[in-house]
Amino acid sequence: MSLTSYYLKGEHQLFRQELRNFLQKEIVPHIDQWEKEQEIPRWVWKKFGEMGYFGLSYPQKYGGLDADFFYTVVFLEELARINSAGFGASIGAHPFLACSHINAYGSDALKEKYLAPSMTGDIFGCMAVSEPIAGSDVANIRTTAVRKGDVYVVNGSKTFITNGVLSDFIVAAVKTKPEAKAGGLSMLVIDRKSKGVSANKLNKLGWHASDTGEIFFDQVEVPVENLVGQENWGFYYIMDRFQLERIIMAVSGVATAEYALEYSLEYMSQREAFGRKINQFQVLRHRIADLASEVEALKTFIYHVAQLQCDGKYAVKEASMAKLLATELSDKAVYQCLQFFGGYGFIEDFKIARMFRDSRVGTIGGGSSEIMREIIAKMVIDNISYKTK
Ligand SMILES: Cc1cc2nc3c(=O)[nH]c(=O)nc-3n(C[C@H](O)[C@H](O)[C@H](O)COP(=O)(O)OP(=O)(O)OC[C@H]3O[C@@H](n4cnc5c(N)ncnc54)[C@H](O)[C@@H]3O)c2cc1C
Repeated sequence: MSLTSYYLKGEHQLFRQELRNFLQKEIVPHIDQWEKEQEIPRWVWKKFGEMGYFGLSYPQKYGGLDADFFYTVVFLEELARINSAGFGASIGAHPFLACSHINAYGSDALKEKYLAPSMTGDIFGCMAVSEPIAGSDVANIRTTAVRKGDVYVVNGSKTFITNGVLSDFIVAAVKTKPEAKAGGLSMLVIDRKSKGVSANKLNKLGWHASDTGEIFFDQVEVPVENLVGQENWGFYYIMDRFQLERIIMAVSGVATAEYALEYSLEYMSQREAFGRKINQFQVLRHRIADLASEVEALKTFIYHVAQLQCDGKYAVKEASMAKLLATELSDKAVYQCLQFFGGYGFIEDFKIARMFRDSRVGTIGGGSSEIMREIIAKMVIDNISYKTK
């Protein structure tokens, strides 16, 4: 039995086909333009909402589909095939980062206000944790939120935020107890239109279709009911939600490696050198054999991690291992695949050039490879275990 047919049922495959058709017809023809413009137009968000794609794993009460996690796996695998990881990052940051916090810990009122219109694509969000002086070291963020009556007054800045310029709301990590480190963080939903919020787009090496931005908060008044969950519990919420982000990045990473390989094999079956198709050179065949083996083995492990997620397990070690290995394999695969294309690999008309640029950030964002190794080392050497609140 193949790996996909073991985990995926007929309805997942039907969903894949419908999604693939949708992406090919509605999205792929515009990707190059959005890569140039470095943003995705508003109608796309609405269209994804109408198709139900933002609500795959969200409750029906707020307009979601309550579908099992393997629908999300299929969604990510198909996004990896349209060759714009920037598009995938923007579209994914909304449900998997911003909405994920509100759904997990937000009040009913917050869910009504932000989650329900998020599912339909009427609004979309970003999650802003990283700051100019604190990325990996989340507990060290400096943006403050001081309670004054019915509002928090927020001051500070964020950077590297996916959808940081164009999104309608910002799920932001703030310090509500500045003297404390991890124990002083809270999560607030901040309306983009609030007075004192401004943002700039950053120019990036890759992920061009995505608007990655710096965000500034200058005396921004946020209603206290926009607090997500409990005050000063933000660090635990972030660590808990990272779990989903890491699994998402793992699925996308291995899907990218798999697609790079498929795309290369197609090219290699046509390109000739020294009177032979280049897929007949033993040295290249062995490289393909190695990559195909690594992809297959890792994909099997990642489907296992996806099953744990489906079953509601808090599998920190496995998710960290999956994120580490998949983003590193993605990098290795696109680097080696680009070589199969020779000079054409360096030319923008060939998909592999963009894949090469886009893959690089995988080992940095969502917890870098070094941070993944730190977590794994603590678990396997020091026997530390992580629990959700
Ligand atoms: C395109 C893009 C999109 C992003 N989107 C978002 C987003 O939507 N929301 C958001 O909040 N953030 C986002 N980020 C930020 C991302 O999460 C951070 O860049 C990442 O967490 C690393 O933080 P840093 O850049 O501050 O690097 P630093 O933390 O300064 O790290 C620098 C280097 O030191 C290493 N290092 C740090 N600590 C240790 C340690 N303890 N042991 C060993 N090595 C260590 C790191 O691995 C890295 O190699 C995005 C970043 C990019 C580039």
